[in-house]
This record gives sequence, structure tokens and C-alpha cells, in this order.
Amino acid sequence: MEERFDGIVIGFGKGGKTLAANMANRGLKVALIEKSPKMYGGTCINLACIPTKSLENSSNEIKRQGFESYEDKNKAYREAIDKKEVLITALRKANFNKANSNENITVFTGVASFEDNRTVKVVMEDTKEVKVLKGDKIFINTGTLPFIPNIEGVNSAKNIFTSETLMNLRELPKELIIIGAGFIGQEFASIYSGFGSKVTLLNNLPQILMNEDKDDVEEILKLYEKKGIDLINEVNTKKVYNKGERVVVETEDGRTFEGDALLLSTGRKSNIEGLNLEKAGVETNERGFIKVSDTLKTTADDIWALGDINGGLQFTYISLDDFRIVFDNLFGEKKRKISDRRNIATSTFIDPTFSRVGLTVEKAKEEGYDVMIAKMPVNTIPRAKQIGETDGFLKVVINKDNDKILGASFLCVDSSELINIIKMAMDNNISYKYLRDNIYTHPTIIEGFNELFTGAYMK
Ligand SMILES: Cc1cc2nc3c(=O)[nH]c(=O)nc-3n(C[C@H](O)[C@H](O)[C@H](O)COP(=O)(O)OP(=O)(O)OC[C@H]3O[C@@H](n4cnc5c(N)ncnc54)[C@H](O)[C@@H]3O)c2cc1C
Repeated sequence: MEERFDGIVIGFGKGGKTLAANMANRGLKVALIEKSPKMYGGTCINLACIPTKSLENSSNEIKRQGFESYEDKNKAYREAIDKKEVLITALRKANFNKANSNENITVFTGVASFEDNRTVKVVMEDTKEVKVLKGDKIFINTGTLPFIPNIEGVNSAKNIFTSETLMNLRELPKELIIIGAGFIGQEFASIYSGFGSKVTLLNNLPQILMNEDKDDVEEILKLYEKKGIDLINEVNTKKVYNKGERVVVETEDGRTFEGDALLLSTGRKSNIEGLNLEKAGVETNERGFIKVSDTLKTTADDIWALGDINGGLQFTYISLDDFRIVFDNLFGEKKRKISDRRNIATSTFIDPTFSRVGLTVEKAKEEGYDVMIAKMPVNTIPRAKQIGETDGFLKVVINKDNDKILGASFLCVDSSELINIIKMAMDNNISYKYLRDNIYTHPTIIEGFNELFTGAYMK
């Protein structure tokens, strides 16, 4: 028998669950479909942002304690894995309960696929019963999966992990090799080196953070050196194999790297397999992501795509903003669109966190701006000294013609908080002088802005 809904949301990600809740709160009947009971709340909570940042936090604490023996490090690592598991289990449960307790939301746990552009079939996870759901509107929020590169031996060798599986490994690898030095590879390098693994990071490009200013990259490289992370650039993997329990990575130029575990952080692919998008007339692009308009409509009537699956920036806060766009266009002022987004900030949690927004100095000059640069080391800020977090810098790029901020990069404790202030200043055309003269609480990292924009640090 068919069940009818005003809206069907496929995938319990950030955008999808928020949309389901907001539609339900308007009195609309919503079906929220999630294929796995281990994934309520989506990737962020269960496999990505939250578990990695929980481990990052534990790894930073452990690094400070400075354990000597492998046994002590391994014990602390296991405790961190357990702590992370307790946290995500609680969040998953809370996410399920919140949706399930809403009288207008029906949670279906099973794999969804399209029958046509109004009909979704769900094969229930426990009973394998097939449910047929009809919806006036359908929202796809199925996210991404780790991309496994086509490297010889990658599917047969032991001790090979993705970002999703490494975090369940209960034995701290003494030596960890990471293929892929994007933000996920770099975060894992930092986390596991903090726990005490010897990390080798293999990067196929000439440098990490290719779009950043050279002076910023140099400071991050110094940090990696201090952490003992071996970064190898311009290296392409040919094959992987085991030597006993060890994993060996052989490169195209004949070098070999050996470790106890290998992490593949080689990108993410769209999660569309089995959705039968063609039955609904939903088209994908050449990368397999769902094609969407500026307001996130797919090529099929009354079907929208939110989050990673639509091929935009892959961040939880972008998925949330996708919700805002869809909701506004369905029930609000119909003003929001992707192309209006400005100054999206990002943070890479490498201890200290590297956060950035807007233009780099190099890019600003390329675009013809006459720039002023404000840059200061973090170790001059009282708060940094007081908490013993003195690594890094604050750097802001300013338009000399009008004192407006063009961009910023911060390598600094809590920079993931600080960068949002710069985004707000940029969005609202606030001059750097306002940030310089503002009254901040003390002791804080942000009060560094009082100094940053003064003669000593500006050029
Ligand atoms: C290691 C790692 C760390 C990250 N750290 C950060 C970070 O610090 N900050 C940040 O902003 N972003 C981070 N990200 C990115 C972030 O996790 C994603 O951008 C975000 O989770 C995408 O959410 P989403 O809304 O697209 O859907 P998702 O959260 O991916 O949800 C999709 C859901 O759909 C379900 N599903 C899929 N197919 C079906 C189907 N056929 N039927 C039913 N259900 C289905 C899946 O099981 C899943 O639960 C990180 C990513 C990784 C991999």
C-alpha cells in the first residue's frame, strides 16, 4: 500500500534533517529516509566532522601529556576512540529521537530508490519489506562516499583504511602512511602524529595548499616538521601490497614507503548508486553529482538536491545553507540562491587550526588590488601565552583604497571561531579600523586584532 507525504527527504544529512524538521513544524507530513541505523544525523555526526574533531581534541591533549612508551600512547589512543564512540552514539540517538518524536515526521530506516518523480521505494533495513511512498516534493540529501583510487592491490591488501574506517582501528599504528594531502589527509596526519604515530603524507601535487600564499604554506610546513610529519610532494602511487602485517606503497618513480596502516584520503564520490535517478528524470553531471539550478532544483519537477550530492562545496555548513535556499524558495521570500553566497570561510583542523576566507595576497594582487598586509605572530597575544598555544600567525589582506578587508588567513588556536568575524566584516564592508579599535574582552585571542592592524605589523 502506498503512503502519501507532502515531502520525502532521502538521506538524514544536515540539509535534509533540517528541512524535514522545518517542513514538519509548518504542519506538513514528511518522510525522512535513512538507509542505516548507524547513520541517523548523517555523515558529519557519524563519520566525519564530529568524530575527527573529537579525536583531534584528544590527540592535542595527549600530545601535551607527552607519553614516552608506545603502550601508554596506545592506551590513550584507545580511550580516545572509546570517547569518540560514546559521543557519536549519543548524538546519533538524539538526532533519531528528535526526528522520530515529531508527529509530522515518519522516519524510514532503509534504502531509498526512485520509481518515478513522485514515487520512492524503500527497502526496510530490518524486515526487508518494501514500502512505496508518494510525495508532492522530494529532496535528495544522500551525501558522498570515500573515493577509492584505481591503484594495484588497493582492494586486496590488508591494513588499508578510509577516513571512515581508520577511526575504528583500536591499535595505534606506529607508522601511518597517508595517500592524499587535501584537508582530510592533513587533519588525519595531525591527529595521528599527535597520538604518537610516525606519519608519512604522500601528496601528488608539487605542494600542499596550492592556492594559499607561499609564506602561509611555509609556516604550516614548519609546523609539520615540528610534529615529525614527513610530507612527500609530487609522488604518484603505483601499487600497494603487504609485507607480513606491514603495508608497502610503491610509487611510480620506484620509491617505497612502509607502514603499519595506510589511509586513503583521495577525495569523495557522489552517493547515487541504486537511487535510480533516471526513473525520476534527475540528471547528473560528468562527475556523477546531481545537476542543480541556482535554487537547488534538479532537472526533474518538484525534486531538489541538498548537501554534498549536488556537487557544491563539501561542508556541513554548506548543506545547512542549502536547506535555507530550498526552504526560502518554497515557503519564504524566494530570495536566496547559491550565487549570492559570499566569502565562504574554511578551517582545516591541523593544530593549530588553519582558517581562511576571501582572497590571498597573491590573488588580490593578481586581481589588481593595491593591498596592505597585516600579519603578526600569535606568540605576542597574552591569551596565547597563557594557554600555551603560541604557534602560528594572524594575517589579513586589506584594500588600500578603501580600508576594506579582502581576505584573511589564520594559523592559530581557535581560528575556526575567529575567521567568522572576518567573514562578517567582509560581508558588511566593515573597515579594518573598526576591528583595530573595537573593545574586546580580555584575555582572548581576538584582542590580537587591536595590535594586528597597527604600524608594527602592517605593510
Ligand atoms: C573525515 C571528514 C571530516 C570532515 N570534517 C568536516 C568539518 O570539520 N566541517 C565541515 O563542515 N565538514 C566536514 N566534512 C564534510 C561534511 O562531513 C559533509 O560535507 C557533510 O556531512 C555532508 O552532509 P550532507 O548533508 O550532504 O549529507 P550526509 O550527512 O552525507 O548524509 C547523507 C545520508 O544519506 C544516507 N543515504 C545515502 N543513500 C541513501 C539511500 N539510497 N537511501 C537512504 N539513505 C541514503 C547516508 O547513509 C547518509 O546518512 C568532513 C568530511 C569528512 C569525510
